[in-house]
Amino acid sequence: MRAVVTGGAGFLGSHLCEALLEDGCSVVTIDNLITGNKENMGALLGLSEFEFIEGDICDGIDVEGDIDMIFHLASPASPNDYLNLPIETLKAGTVGTLNCLEFAQEKSSLFLLASTSEIYGDPLEHPQREEYWGNVNPIGVRSVYDEAKRVSESMAMAYHRERGVTVRIARIFNTYGPRMKRDDGRVVPNFIDQALHGQDLTVFGDGAQTRSFCFVSDLIDGLLKLARSGVEDPVNLGNPEEVRIVDLAKLILKMAGSNSGIKFEELPVDDPRTRRPDISKAEKLLGWQPNVDLNVGLEKTLAWFRGKLHRS
Ligand code: NAD
Ligand code: UDP
Repeated sequence: MRAVVTGGAGFLGSHLCEALLEDGCSVVTIDNLITGNKENMGALLGLSEFEFIEGDICDGIDVEGDIDMIFHLASPASPNDYLNLPIETLKAGTVGTLNCLEFAQEKSSLFLLASTSEIYGDPLEHPQREEYWGNVNPIGVRSVYDEAKRVSESMAMAYHRERGVTVRIARIFNTYGPRMKRDDGRVVPNFIDQALHGQDLTVFGDGAQTRSFCFVSDLIDGLLKLARSGVEDPVNLGNPEEVRIVDLAKLILKMAGSNSGIKFEELPVDDPRTRRPDISKAEKLLGWQPNVDLNVGLEKTLAWFRGKLHRS
């Protein structure tokens, strides 16, 4: 099997490339390093079964030879990143997705889209099932990400219906773990970095908003199971264990043994108040469920951030 991974120098993409190689696939990754980092691919760069192409998927995709699977992950993903890179984010999720689908059609390859729970916006249904259509502000600052992912899903289904492309759509909920950037801006790396540097943890709003956090190894397992399944419509992948953000801050402070405090800052615009996946579809159709408990996953992530601190 030969796979293309767009965004393989990023957090999830680099773990996915590793897992595919372990499965015996050869992997070509395309990444323009806009939010990713070569370091994430580490030892993979020396492997004969791994090829890294530095390039922007919006400029077209040119890989010779047979391709069995395309995993489309290239897009800024942290709210910090996509708010700073609005046009690049829109282009990755529109022109970039279109190029990936054309490429998938040309190669008769499976296309897997890394979609997101953000397509549900600030949800009025809780927990979120795949049947829910969402509550997205189409002109708000977050829309560059949310709407680009929504149109990516639309494009995937159109190429499936009209051109016969085999598609998989993973609606990924908040995922965390080693290799997230220190300055990523997402809540887990932010809180860990602040705790390890003796800074107060910045809780936005009153911290009563909720998220459900999935450890990266569980998520990658879900992506691979989805790719191998015959499921053509969207599937939620995430951990249904829901926490309030202020409780997450307290937990990380305790686990890090940090003396930092908590400071409350303004809630970002359109920040969803709740988020928790209904994963019954993934359980039933993929035989998948997450196994890594939040405490265990946070310990692993903390250990990785501590190690990085010592190495730098
Ligand atoms: P990330 O920022 O670490 O990785 C994204 C990668 O895509 C980076 O390496 C970046 O350089 C690359 N990229 C961006 N635009 C590109 C372009 N035009 N051409 C080539 N490469 C480009 O983010 P991540 O957390 O690893 O997310 C990966 C994917 O998973 C994204 O599509 C994101 O929307 C999706 N996702 C992630 C989460 C999560 O919690 N991590 C949740 C939902 C969805
Ligand atoms: N958040 C926070 N402090 C931070 C970073 C994020 O309180 O330093 C909050 C943010 O407002 C949101 C939640 O944590 O309610 C998750 O934010 P993140 O950026 O990780 O991802 P999102 O789920 O919003 O895409």
